[in-house]
Amino acid sequence: MPKTENEKGFVDVVNGRYKPKGVFHIPEANQPIFNKDTGKLAGITNPRDMTYMHSYGGEAPFFEGLGKGKLMASRCDNAKCETKGSIYQPFRIYCPDCLRKNTVIDMTDLAKTTAKIHSYIITHRSGAFNSLPKPIKFINIEFEGVVTILMSVLAVGEPEFDKKVVPIFNTKTPTYTITDLRFVVEGTSESELPEGFTF
Ligand SMILES: [Zn+2]
Repeated sequence: MPKTENEKGFVDVVNGRYKPKGVFHIPEANQPIFNKDTGKLAGITNPRDMTYMHSYGGEAPFFEGLGKGKLMASRCDNAKCETKGSIYQPFRIYCPDCLRKNTVIDMTDLAKTTAKIHSYIITHRSGAFNSLPKPIKFINIEFEGVVTILMSVLAVGEPEFDKKVVPIFNTKTPTYTITDLRFVVEGTSESELPEGFTF
């Protein structure tokens, strides 16, 4: 059963502190597990319904950007760093070489013009809580000038090595999670995009 508004937990940050409001733990009756061969008790089920507060911290600009149709990355601008200028996607808050805080940059245009498939894997069976249509076409993506490889999902088209892809964003109903970002093969039309997604 979907939760009513009274059964949900909401959180705001006010004066730098988390202010929870609503319900975060919903109790549910447990059930016994009986051994059908012996009639003896083997255990119990343990239903738990909790709302977890997952803080994004320094990665928040990345997730906020997706809902606005922007792919944010990070770059080391430390003049004393041997790898100065390295761009990281997935977004890294800190440079792995000098451990200084990276600069947040917008790489949307770079992704739109240079993204291509490095490798891929097609998954027919998913784990619990999967929200993606199956089979899931996971793709590893290269971008020009980016030192890391991004894993995402190909929403339209068939994956092939070196095939050009473009990012799409869930700008109409953003969830502020990584599923707001997906990719489609170059040449896909707007009408083929999943519900809520735009280029
Ligand atoms: Zn650095």
